[in-house]
This record gives sequence, structure tokens and C-alpha cells, in this order.
Amino acid sequence: MIQGVITDIQHFSIHDGPGIRTTVFFKGCSQRCFWCHNPETLATQPQLQLYLDRCIGCGACFEVCPEGAHQMTDGERSFDRDACTGCGACADTCYARALVLVGETKSADEIVETVLRDRAFYETSGGGVTLSGGEPLLQLDFAEAILSRCRQEGIHTAVETAANMPWEQLAHILPVTDLLMMDIKVMDSEKHRAVTGVPNARILENARRLGETKIPLIVRTPIVPGVNDDEASVSAIAAFVAELPNVVYYELLRFHGMAESKYASLEMDHRARDLVAPAKAQMEALSETARGFELEVRHS
Ligand code: SF4
Ligand code: SF4
Repeated sequence: MIQGVITDIQHFSIHDGPGIRTTVFFKGCSQRCFWCHNPETLATQPQLQLYLDRCIGCGACFEVCPEGAHQMTDGERSFDRDACTGCGACADTCYARALVLVGETKSADEIVETVLRDRAFYETSGGGVTLSGGEPLLQLDFAEAILSRCRQEGIHTAVETAANMPWEQLAHILPVTDLLMMDIKVMDSEKHRAVTGVPNARILENARRLGETKIPLIVRTPIVPGVNDDEASVSAIAAFVAELPNVVYYELLRFHGMAESKYASLEMDHRARDLVAPAKAQMEALSETARGFELEVRHS
């Protein structure tokens, strides 16, 4: 039985490929983009989120934790994250939903069973299943098992990937993938490393090789203030994307900074907390720039 760790399964999604889709969010990512708005997907292992503003101080979690990770000392509540094994017992007990365990181990069969429940919606809308994250291809066998079972069932399959991996890993899922969506964030490799934690040579090379396949490809750029919200940055990416013959469209995604409470719940530093989302007019102007490269361009 092939198993993997996911953070969520989202039904009736309309932003992760064509039609109505079921999106499976995998846990674990190979990049550390400083603006990430899904910090709960970065680490591979299950993690406990603690929303202090919801805690009513009932004390139930102090009693059930086998590791003594929740403590009350002199009226002060504390949580020892290093001691937590992610068993989830306290989250099951917390009536106020102040504790949430993010990251569940599921079998590929369980995921496919859930996906198949919405088959009627895929058929009427041209939708299907999308694997997202995090980076779904970090759990390669798990991803491949879900995709091939869905394919056997006649369900359209899509994968959202950063393509930051050896080509052989990416190539492994291509026979069972109907649509690929990948990000190109910055063309300059040093800058890419500075803002995502990894260089981009392998990502660009994988994009070129995907361009030699017949699989439809959607390329996306999250527009982040101070990173790539200027004409030169978007032009450089659009010129590259325009060379890929299988691109369906190029999409600019507007940065939003609505992740502060998630970062706080995981005791993680939110480095993009002070960034302001680009104006709609700026997104339209950058899209126009990209259209100059004879691409179909969409933006959020
Ligand atoms: S069980 Fe929930 S509400 Fe009660 S003390 Fe623990 S975190 Fe707070
Ligand atoms: S998830 Fe388990 S180990 Fe972690 S704090 Fe809760 S009860 Fe303790």
C-alpha cells in the first residue's frame, strides 16, 4: 500500500486547472520562497498549529499530551514544539479548535476513493484531479499511484510542480499526466536563490525539456513586490515562456499577504509580512507587457 502525507483535499476548486477539480495538497517543499502563503506545506512531517487567540484555557491538552509538550507555569501557557511528536491527541481534544494538526498520512487508494466521489462534476465541467502542495513530486511514488489510478478511471489529471528536481523524476509522472502547471519566478539564478533558497538552472532546463513533450503546460509567475513586479523581470520570463511550444497560457498571480496567522500558529517568521499586494492596474500593465511576446496571458 503506497502512502503519503497531505495537508488537505479541496473539493470544487476552479483555480487549479480546467473545470471543477479536486485538489490534493501534498506536504513538503524543496523551495523556501519568502512570500509563501502556505507555510504549513513546507515541512514534510505533520506539525501542530497553535492558534493562541482561540485558546480558552480549558487545560484539556495539558492532560492528554504524552510528551508533556503543553505546560502551564505560573499562569503562563507554553508549548514545547521540540517535544511534540505530532500524534494529534491534543488537537482531537481541543474543543476550541486552537490546536490543529496539519499533515495526515493517507494511502493512494483513500485519495482516489475521495476523488472519485466528485466524478459527476468532472464530467459536466471538464474538470478532474490536481496534485498540488508543497511539491507533490517529492512524494513521487505516491503521486504516480494517484495519477495512474485516476487515469484508469478516466479522470483528467493535472500536476502543479516547481520542477526543481532531476529530469528523471519529473519524467516519471508524464505518462499519467494530462496537464502540467509550473512556476517560473525569476530568470536570474542568483536572485532566484536569494528569494527561493535554490538556483533555477535545473528548473529552466526542465521547462525546456517539457517544451519538447506534447503535454499542455501552464506557466505561472507569482508577482511579488521588489522581486519581479517590474517590466524587465516579466519581459525576461515571458520571452523564455514564448519559446515553449506547448504553453497553453502564461499566468501572473497577484501576491497576497494573508498568511500571518498561519505563520504565527507554527512559530515561523513571516518575512513577507510588510509587503503590499500589487495594484490591479499594475497586474494588468505587466500582463500587457507579457502579451507583447505573443502569449495568451491571464492574471489574478
Ligand atoms: S485544549 Fe485547546 S482551548 Fe483547551 S487549553 Fe488546550 S489549546 Fe487551549
Ligand atoms: S500533537 Fe501529540 S505530542 Fe504534540 S503536543 Fe499534541 S498531544 Fe503532545
